[in-house]
Amino acid sequence: MSPPRRRWDALFLDRDGTLIVERGFLRDPRGVRLARGAAAALRRFAERGTLLFVVTNQSGIARGLVTPEEVEAVNAEVARRLARRGVPVAAFLVCPHHPDGTVAPWARRCRCRKPGTLLHRRAIASHGLDPARCAVVGDKWDDVGSGLALGAVPVHLLTGHGREDRARVLREAPGAIPARSLAEGLALLEALPERASRAASSVR
Ligand SMILES: [Mg+2]
Ligand SMILES: [Zn+2]
Repeated sequence: MSPPRRRWDALFLDRDGTLIVERGFLRDPRGVRLARGAAAALRRFAERGTLLFVVTNQSGIARGLVTPEEVEAVNAEVARRLARRGVPVAAFLVCPHHPDGTVAPWARRCRCRKPGTLLHRRAIASHGLDPARCAVVGDKWDDVGSGLALGAVPVHLLTGHGREDRARVLREAPGAIPARSLAEGLALLEALPERASRAASSVR
């Protein structure tokens, strides 16, 4: 008997203010604090075969406020903390760019900075994922916007900078799932039924 098909192909999780507590341009791995309840909730997704990606805008690199090595060290610490709790991260997808940056070669416009979707789309293509079976979780409009553009399910949190962007999310993304915290957002995703069209096609 084969196990039931996973409900979610992948979660695309924002890093700062979503997966870890917002600390501005974080350069020191010792500043990493996982969001409350994140590891336990993410583990339930991982156990069902959902891939977990972290997608993060790190314009501090283009602005000269943080080095790529520092971003990598923080990411490695996040991965270590999650691994200890039985949560594997499939990949950290980092946009180092910003058009107002000062550091070559990152001071430029790009298609990977959220709400751009280049990083998500590469992961979706290389893992053969269905965007409609993916969720994008974050505290900013840019996270929600990337989810909408992908045709994924956006989840907007009130942690990090969430309160600043909630009104816009409610106005412009009525399909987004509003939640207070990452733990709550993930619980809502777990409870979300399959879309009717998908459920119908799986009955054949
Ligand atoms: Mg964020
Ligand atoms: Zn970029």
